[in-house]
Amino acid sequence: MSETCLDIEMASQAHDVYYLTAVTWRDNQPWLRVHTDDPPSVEAIEARDLHLRFRINDEIARRCIGRLERSRDGSAYVDCKSPPTTGRQCKRCQIVDNMSAADMHQAHRKGRDAIDRRMAAYLSHPHRLYVAIFRDGSTKIGTTRGTSGGQRLAEQGAWFAKYVGHVDDGFLVRELEDLISESLKLGQAVDTRKKISGHLRARNDNELTTTLEDVTLEVSEVLKTSNIEGCTSLNEQWSNPAIGDPHWQDLRAYPAVLTSGAHEFTIHSMVGRLAACTRTGLTEVFIIDLQPLLGRPLERGEFELDELVQQESLF
Ligand SMILES: [Zn+2]
Repeated sequence: MSETCLDIEMASQAHDVYYLTAVTWRDNQPWLRVHTDDPPSVEAIEARDLHLRFRINDEIARRCIGRLERSRDGSAYVDCKSPPTTGRQCKRCQIVDNMSAADMHQAHRKGRDAIDRRMAAYLSHPHRLYVAIFRDGSTKIGTTRGTSGGQRLAEQGAWFAKYVGHVDDGFLVRELEDLISESLKLGQAVDTRKKISGHLRARNDNELTTTLEDVTLEVSEVLKTSNIEGCTSLNEQWSNPAIGDPHWQDLRAYPAVLTSGAHEFTIHSMVGRLAACTRTGLTEVFIIDLQPLLGRPLERGEFELDELVQQESLF
C-alpha cells in the first residue's frame, strides 16, 4: 500500500483519532495494526512507505493493545477494548499474557499436564532452535515454532541467524535452549537499547557472521555431546531482508520525544519494531522504535510539528 492508503482510509471514515496496536510480520513484510473507535474498525496496513502525521492527544484515553493467544493452530491476536492500566495492556490481557509466557517458558519443567491445554497443543508441534546475532554483536539462543519461515527472527530484528536444530516439540526445544544457555552462558533475549545502538554504530557484517559462526560451532558441540533423542541438527543460514537496504546504512537517533507532541515521518523499512524513517524536508534517516506509540491516541489534523533538535548529545 502506498502512503496515501492510511490517509484515505481515515479520511473516508472521518476518523480523527486512531491507534497503532501492533507491528506484525508476514512474508518478510512489516504491517501495522490500526484501530479506530468511531466507527469501530481494525485493519492491517503495510508499514513500508507509510506516511504518518499525528499529534499525541493525552486527553483521550489510551487503548489496550490486546494479547496473543496460542493454540494448536499457532498464535493469533485478540483485540481488546478495555482501557489499559499503567502499561500498554488492560489488567486482563496482562494476566493472560503473563500466564501464557510463564506456561511457555516453564512448560518443560512443569510438564504437559500442568499447563493450559491450548498452550500444550501449541507446543506439541515441531520447533527449531536458532542462534541469532544483532548488529551490536549481541548473540542469543532462541526457539521458533514450525519448520520453515523466519518470522520470529524478523519480529525480533536479528541481523543474521543460524538454525541449529530441528526438535520434535516445544517442550524438548526449551530443555535444549536452557541447556545451551547454562553451558555457554548464552542469553535468551537481547535488550532493545542494544538493538538500537547496533544500528547507530553497526559492526561490520563480516565480523558479525564470523562471530555467529563461532557461537554456532559451540552450540552444535553441546547438542552433539548431549545426544538427546528428538533433535536433529540443522545448519541453515538466515539473513535479515533489510541487509543491503541503504536506509540502514547511516542512521540517526530520532531527536525528539515520540510519546508527546506532534510528529511526521515516512517509514521506509523496518527491522523488528524499529523503523528507518525520514521527515519531509530533511535528508537524515532516523531510527524510530514504534513500540512507545502502541495504544496511544494519535490525532490527525493540521498542527505545528515538534522541532527536531539535532544535537550530538542526544544521540
Ligand atoms: Zn486488554
